[in-house]
Amino acid sequence: MPKSLFAVLVVIVLIASTSEPAPTQAPRQRPELSGTLNLLCTPQIVWCEGMKAEFQKVYPRVTVEFVRLSSGEALTRLRNEKANPQFDIWWGGPIDSFIAAKAEGLLEAYNSPNLANLIDPRLMKDPDNAWAGIYVGSLGFASNKNFLEKHQLKPPASWDDLLNPAFKGQLVIAHPSSSGTAYTALITVLQLKGEEKGWDYWKQFHANVWQYTKSGAAPAQHVGQGEAAVGVVFSHDIVAQMEQGLPIVLSFAQEGMGWEIGGMAILKGAQHSNLAQAWFDWALEPATQELGPKYTAYQAPTVQGAKASRPELLGVTLIDYNFEYAGKNKKAFIDKFTNEIAATRR
Ligand code: PLP
Repeated sequence: MPKSLFAVLVVIVLIASTSEPAPTQAPRQRPELSGTLNLLCTPQIVWCEGMKAEFQKVYPRVTVEFVRLSSGEALTRLRNEKANPQFDIWWGGPIDSFIAAKAEGLLEAYNSPNLANLIDPRLMKDPDNAWAGIYVGSLGFASNKNFLEKHQLKPPASWDDLLNPAFKGQLVIAHPSSSGTAYTALITVLQLKGEEKGWDYWKQFHANVWQYTKSGAAPAQHVGQGEAAVGVVFSHDIVAQMEQGLPIVLSFAQEGMGWEIGGMAILKGAQHSNLAQAWFDWALEPATQELGPKYTAYQAPTVQGAKASRPELLGVTLIDYNFEYAGKNKKAFIDKFTNEIAATRR
């Protein structure tokens, strides 16, 4: 990992671990707002519901209506509604989808005063302010403890460990066409191995797959219930399932895990852009970013002064994940995965 990226991640963990107040101004006087905010929400539904309730506490005359869609589904929906946008703001999911959405003219830039709160604005916001980062997290492997014990296997410690024939019909991951989590995994291997060997890896991986799910976090539940042996999921989602008492072991690849910056953007043609701006500002306040664990969301924050609930989740070896590469190639790579990998027999 280049030193610069390492430094940024250390800063995220260190700054986010302190409970010092943000060096930025306290939340501005809240404007008097009323109406309905239409939110496109990509994180887990518990967090979406929690944030809806929290925002409505801050703005009692505003009603938040949300639809929960995984990243890829959300992007498709926004494309289809381009001529008649139904949502005001999109919150959550890896930024490669936001980079793709910006390139397709789906986002409205917003120069929020709270962009100044970001720990590393160069990394955590679009240069034209089309999107901003609201959390950070890394991929992990979720393994079923009982399966490992029964087959005398160690938890996977490298991406290649997942190709072990002992895992035939036992791997679970979301489909990258619907899921930002799975797309992050796809890019991680393409970056680590180079494209030729990377695509070959995914062919071999496919031979071991039990099921491709729609949502990125679902594989951790399947593993916890013993329906599959290993899932590739964001580590904060794995921790959330472990907390439920499910027999899951969390491990990481020693050569490195891909990671995400979760994004947020106001949508072009938003009918309630004043409400969307209020949400955008609020989501970049330290107190808001500390609400995650209350709703089983353990991502690290992106703003100064917010305490990370699980800083150790970023203390693993991470790759120099290339968000631009991921965003620019999203459609082509997903088409290739769909047609040349997932459609083949296993
Ligand atoms: N839920 C959580 C908690 C996440 O961290 C992420 C990634 O940003 C997602 C959902 C994204 O979901 P999906 O992989 O279904 O697009």
